[in-house]
Amino acid sequence: MFDSLSTKLDYAIKSLKGEGKITEINVATTVKEIRRALVDADVNYKVAKSVTDKIKDEALGQDVLIAVKPGQLMVKIVADELTNLMGGTKVDINLTGEPAVVLVAGLQGSGKTTFSGKLGYLLKKQNRNVLLVACDIYRPAAIDQLKVLGEQAGVEVYAEPENRNAVEIARNAIAYAKEQRKKVVIVDTAGRLAIDEQMMREIAEVKKAIQPTETLFVVDSMTGQDAVNTAKAFNERLNFDGVVLTKLDGDSRGGAALSIRTVVEKPIKYIGTGEKLDAIDVFHPDRMAQRILGMGDVISLVERAQQNFDEEEARRLQKKIRKNQFDFNDFLSQLEQIKKMGSLKDLVGMIPGVGKMVKDMDISDDAFKPIEAIIRSMTPYERANPVVLNGSRRRRIADGSGTSIQEVNNLLKQFEEMRKMMKAMNNMGGKGGMPVPNA
Ligand code: GDP
Repeated sequence: MFDSLSTKLDYAIKSLKGEGKITEINVATTVKEIRRALVDADVNYKVAKSVTDKIKDEALGQDVLIAVKPGQLMVKIVADELTNLMGGTKVDINLTGEPAVVLVAGLQGSGKTTFSGKLGYLLKKQNRNVLLVACDIYRPAAIDQLKVLGEQAGVEVYAEPENRNAVEIARNAIAYAKEQRKKVVIVDTAGRLAIDEQMMREIAEVKKAIQPTETLFVVDSMTGQDAVNTAKAFNERLNFDGVVLTKLDGDSRGGAALSIRTVVEKPIKYIGTGEKLDAIDVFHPDRMAQRILGMGDVISLVERAQQNFDEEEARRLQKKIRKNQFDFNDFLSQLEQIKKMGSLKDLVGMIPGVGKMVKDMDISDDAFKPIEAIIRSMTPYERANPVVLNGSRRRRIADGSGTSIQEVNNLLKQFEEMRKMMKAMNNMGGKGGMPVPNA
């Protein structure tokens, strides 16, 4: 999905890597490349421009946290803006009513009938009693197709093969659904290869007659800008409630997904990701943005850092490391910060300077427990001045922490090595001090 867009965005954002700060100059190039990637993906130019302008403002207004790199922060900013572009939060379909009526419209070949079957299947799995209605009076094959899908999904299909009046069929179907106490009626309508007045009139009449709780417009995502234009035309006539984007499993360039919401001002509610009945997903703008960027991990890392990482503390620590004053109190406070953020394995790289070393020591999450216990058994004075830890103090600490003297000795040895490494790195770094963490 969106392979080429993902690659280009990744490339654009990578151009920020290694930069210590997001500045007017380096952000301008990145933003230009992001815009080009979006336009190449068939995103409407105006939409691409407005979103990249927002990305730029947002990026320049941000303090780069010590705990994350500018490139990582940029990924998060781009993801947030792409999420907003696609509507921000997911919007559910409205299934109120007895029965709820869902009208499905779109061009021929967009995947309407397939979607109707998929939605029926999805709702049936949620224990709703569903009726599928075949209202395509022009293509007998469409009725058969829906019947096959209904059978696979285990959902009843209502059809009147001889009837040439779509409004009548729809009305009859709803009367039948009420009789049968169905909870949801999904009405699949006729499509044409292109927008056509008669088709529009017919769907509008069906809509008026059955007053659906939800009208969904189905569109093939592979058609890019055309998808957006078709959506506009249907919306003017039908004022639909939501969009279904199909064929996102194909090599769609992503333009439709990214522009439709802004241009039509209607939410995307479902996506189709294959021909099979279960290839349907509720549309989540944030998940889609992360998929487009292909960098879900980085985004959650930055989020967690933004939520939990204490910048003041990080700066204080860097200063202490630089002055070679890093002690057990600092070590303990780092452990606490790490614990707040979740799994150690993912997060070691985020501790300024220390991250890499702890990583090299290959300490697992569990390994931290005795370490923490040992440090907590030291007095604050001992934590600040590990040199005073003689044999009897070590024994007391081992007893207090429920560990052995050997474990205490090991920790002290590792800590001493860590301090030596810090000192060596300080010397290497010259007057600039610590190297940029994990850059
Ligand atoms: P309709 O004319 O709008 O009812 O379109 P159909 O439901 O008949 O779908 C047209 C073609 O697209 C069929 O071959 C479907 O199997 C295929 N199709 C529908 N949705 C998807 C999808 O999400 N992914 C893929 N790969 N194919 C789909």
